[in-house]
Amino acid sequence: MTKPQALPEPFRIKMVEPLALPSRDTRETALRASHYNMFQLKSRDVYLDLLTDSGTGAMSKAQWAALMNGDESYAGADSFYTLKKTLQELLGFDHFLPMHQGRAAEHVVFSSLAREGDLIPMNMPFDTTRAHIFQARAQPLSCVVEEAYQPEVDAPFKGNVDLSKLEAALAQHPHSRRIPLVMVTVTNNSGGGQPVSLENLRACARLTRARGIPLFLDAARMAENAYFIQQREASCRNLTCAQILRRMMDCADAITVSCKKDPLVNIGGLVAMRTEALYYQLAPRTILHEGYLSYGGLAGRDLEALAIGLREMVDEEYLAHRVSQVRYLGDLLTEAGVPILRPVGGHAVFIDAGAFLPHIPQRCYPADVLSVELYREGAIRGVGLGALAFEDTDPVTGRKKLPRLELFRLAIPRRAYTNHHMAYVAKCVAAVHQRRASIRHGLKLVQDSPVPGLSHFVARLEPTPL
Ligand SMILES: *Cc1c(COP(=O)(O)O)cnc(C)c1O
Repeated sequence: MTKPQALPEPFRIKMVEPLALPSRDTRETALRASHYNMFQLKSRDVYLDLLTDSGTGAMSKAQWAALMNGDESYAGADSFYTLKKTLQELLGFDHFLPMHQGRAAEHVVFSSLAREGDLIPMNMPFDTTRAHIFQARAQPLSCVVEEAYQPEVDAPFKGNVDLSKLEAALAQHPHSRRIPLVMVTVTNNSGGGQPVSLENLRACARLTRARGIPLFLDAARMAENAYFIQQREASCRNLTCAQILRRMMDCADAITVSCKKDPLVNIGGLVAMRTEALYYQLAPRTILHEGYLSYGGLAGRDLEALAIGLREMVDEEYLAHRVSQVRYLGDLLTEAGVPILRPVGGHAVFIDAGAFLPHIPQRCYPADVLSVELYREGAIRGVGLGALAFEDTDPVTGRKKLPRLELFRLAIPRRAYTNHHMAYVAKCVAAVHQRRASIRHGLKLVQDSPVPGLSHFVARLEPTPL
């Protein structure tokens, strides 16, 4: 392997937020107080916070300046029209509904369009997406390519939909199962932030259009996906990321977006769509749950910052650094012998916790044990995405089914941490890896979520001997 390399940051720092490494004693106390659940740690007890890349990025000076342009009118605010124009120009959608964040978009979409017993084919559902599909009494169906389940297999587009799986699912509609929509997540967060190729998106569009089923993209990381297409799909090598993004969008009938990811804001979401008919189908629930159609739970100033973030997210230098910083961390870990999901995704490094802690059975939550140990080691917060987050209960037999992947995610906030921080993270993970055989405990669930799919957010855990 060539020596891990990082690109210099394409920004300088105008304002600093001090960070402090809490003492070992503080960390032990914090672990107990949080019931060994990273979501329940206080951020002041964390040194480097890689829990999520959601809403944790740094806004640019242009975004901060734009806040003053916020038009806080209840209806028809200028800020709404500024954002509408951006979405038309950048993504080609004529209609959109602002939402307070991505899961609000999921709520509006699935509660409006899905019914009991429906099937929602996807590449892979993200955790909140999955929970919203369950809430609508529908069922998600993963149709991702087989490589997605093989962490060590290096393939360029592990987020792709397996077209034969999708075709077989679609054949059920409308006879045995109704399929109100197909959703493809770009990049595929649950499967390691892996991209979907433009060719694959086009093929999905052909299959869904032939049956008159709308194709939705869960487009939280659409810009990172476009960058990977530029780097890995030969026919797109000479296109800009903005041009590729537009071609991706051309495949979709609608998109849901958590704007807390690629669009570089701390809060916000949206649904954008081609037809007025779909807009009016989703409008009532937006008004009921989010707010009026021109603000959807956001302030006018949030819409202004979002309009700028959407343009900044496709900046070529920004994207090159963003993806290289994540890869740098991944390469440092690989160099230290840590088993990670390859290739490194766009927003996070996913450690194969099953391979890292092979002596801990999956029902003792190895991914979450690794969270605890890394926090203990260096006050770094990541998140387990394994059995605790994705265990399924069979709706008929009530039997528990463990997920195929047991991953621990280190998500990198956008424009917030430097490459030196990545080196510190790698050093701490390597130290845990060195002492992995001495980790002789698992975790057990002492209090679970009453709502399916939300365990990892609220669970209380306790160490348990192996
Ligand atoms: C974060 C995320 C969501 C949910 O968005 P929130 O803004 O956190 O509510 C949905 N889908 C994907 C792929 C995400 O990464």
